[in-house]
Amino acid sequence: MNNIVAIVGRPNVGKSTFFNRLIQRREAIVDSVSGVTRDRNYGKSEWNGKEFSVIDTGGYIKGSDDIFEAEIRKQVELAIDEADAIIFVVDVEEGITPMDDEVAKLLRKVTKPVLLVVNKVDNAMRTNDALEFYNLGLGEYFAISGMTGSGTGELLDELVNVLPEMPEVTEEVDPLPRFCVVGRPNAGKSSFINALIGEDRFVVTDIAGTTRDAIDTKYNRFGFEFNLVDTAGIRRKAKVKEDLEFYSVMRSVRAIENSDVCILMIDATRGFEGQDQSIFWLAEKNRKGIVILVNKWDLVEKDTMSTRDYERKIREELQPFTDVPILFVSALNKQRLIKALEVAVNVFENRKHRIPTSKFNDTMLPIIEHNPPPALKGKYVKIKYCMQLPTPTPQFVFFCNLPQYVKDPYKRFIENKLREEFNFEGVPIEIYFRQK
Ligand code: GDP
Ligand code: GDP
Repeated sequence: MNNIVAIVGRPNVGKSTFFNRLIQRREAIVDSVSGVTRDRNYGKSEWNGKEFSVIDTGGYIKGSDDIFEAEIRKQVELAIDEADAIIFVVDVEEGITPMDDEVAKLLRKVTKPVLLVVNKVDNAMRTNDALEFYNLGLGEYFAISGMTGSGTGELLDELVNVLPEMPEVTEEVDPLPRFCVVGRPNAGKSSFINALIGEDRFVVTDIAGTTRDAIDTKYNRFGFEFNLVDTAGIRRKAKVKEDLEFYSVMRSVRAIENSDVCILMIDATRGFEGQDQSIFWLAEKNRKGIVILVNKWDLVEKDTMSTRDYERKIREELQPFTDVPILFVSALNKQRLIKALEVAVNVFENRKHRIPTSKFNDTMLPIIEHNPPPALKGKYVKIKYCMQLPTPTPQFVFFCNLPQYVKDPYKRFIENKLREEFNFEGVPIEIYFRQK
């Protein structure tokens, strides 16, 4: 279970520069494999062997010039609610601005770790200028240059030092599937959960301010046993009504990270939009199983829009990871909810699917022989052997003479074939080409 670190601060102080520095090394590895970078504002970082998730809250607000103070305030409040630690970035070039003071005021009340980072301290003179930031009343600060990286080592030492220990939830501890229900506000998440598990089990109490780590509740419904992760995030929605991408993502991160399968609810009357996509890629990036429920299907005129058309439109948005179950449901009318549960359980099983090496080779090698990687600069790639790795989520390696000559289109081809031959519906998979 990862800690979540939120980077807050007003526009142009250097949040995204610093964020990119934090996630750089890992992302480079991850993305060379998947070939796609979807969410530039969320990533994983690691320091001294401790992994954590990072969110650049500023990245979710576009048009940073006409941004309102109220906007930043909400952002910070949500970060305080949802993150395990907060990095507050200020800019030594600008000095303390009224908005910095506002944010500092909010952060002074927080019991979670808050690290004050004075950015753009590129030279010795600016080291002195940084002293004024003691006036924010947040104590010690870290003077860094996000651009050159100077000072970031000490900052990260301190960060991993103050991050709370997180409980490790493993399959040995609990073999049941862990589901989370995610989606934008008003998609119907609480209605779905209520319909599934009953109102009585979903009593709303005001738990604001209490820790909501590891809120897993075990259920046995309609013959399925499962854990539902982090329903608290949904219960507490009263606090945030706005329909901003930032909220959806921030509210979903922990639930997604703590689950095996994400049930992504979308509102049929609105379609698959930016927020839905962000949440989808959050799940994909975390290699979680995914089921998409198109909710409120009762409201859609069936003459104008068939499920098939609708489904096709969504799948276009999911490219290249389109092998995802899409169901049309109505939480209100309790239509196809048990089916949704059944499919989520299937995805959970698919994610655990392990293919014996001999069977995998017998299936994939003939396909490769018929459709070898295209020759590049007169060189021929020969794939000799392949196997599934013994990893928690499905990963496959293909051994060949010239792995660097295998390009993305061929990787996609292999992935598609693999998905045709074996059932990995709803499950992100990784494919590597390695030198034998
Ligand atoms: P954000 O809006 O807070 O995410 O800020 P950005 O990361 O987009 O940075 C705003 C501007 O400050 C950009 O022009 C950056 O190149 C610049 N910047 C970021 N970090 C540093 C730094 O450490 N030193 C200097 N001199 N400029 C920086
Ligand atoms: P949440 O914010 O995602 O938890 O969404 P809610 O479960 O609170 O639902 C938001 C609104 O949509 C409520 O007024 C629900 O009654 C309504 N709603 C939820 N599911 C359906 C559905 O399947 N059909 C219709 N017509 N309305 C629904």
